[in-house]
Amino acid sequence: MSGGGWNVVRCGACSTCHGHRGTGRICPHCGQKLQSDAEIVISVATASELRIEVALANTPEELRDNLRARLQTNQKLIQQDEPISFQGLAQVLLSATDEKGVLTAQGLQPALDRNGDSIDANDLIDMAESQGMLVRLSVDCWQLLE
Ligand SMILES: [Zn+2]
Repeated sequence: MSGGGWNVVRCGACSTCHGHRGTGRICPHCGQKLQSDAEIVISVATASELRIEVALANTPEELRDNLRARLQTNQKLIQQDEPISFQGLAQVLLSATDEKGVLTAQGLQPALDRNGDSIDANDLIDMAESQGMLVRLSVDCWQLLE
């Protein structure tokens, strides 16, 4: 990788940290000219890492771990706190469908029991239907959409 990375630089005048590609000349917070020996707190490879590191550098040390966890979690698009994961749900449903991709509550319950899930097959089907994973074909028969 060429072109250099990004640096978190601490202004000697106001002690606030800011991000720079390479090294900057002026502090964006107080407008003072940066010393040539201004402290480089950390160097990172990407602008998104830089955003996190600048926020962390300007946060009191005792709050940093918490903030880091929140910032890094926010970068992920998949929510982690669902009671049953979307992917896990799809796998259980898939394992219970027949070769035509058709699912019944009677077919699903053993798959849930095998999985150790204490969830009722009908509840799971309701949930999957509301998320657009299943389309009802008849009274107790659903088509799995992939
Ligand atoms: Zn400054």
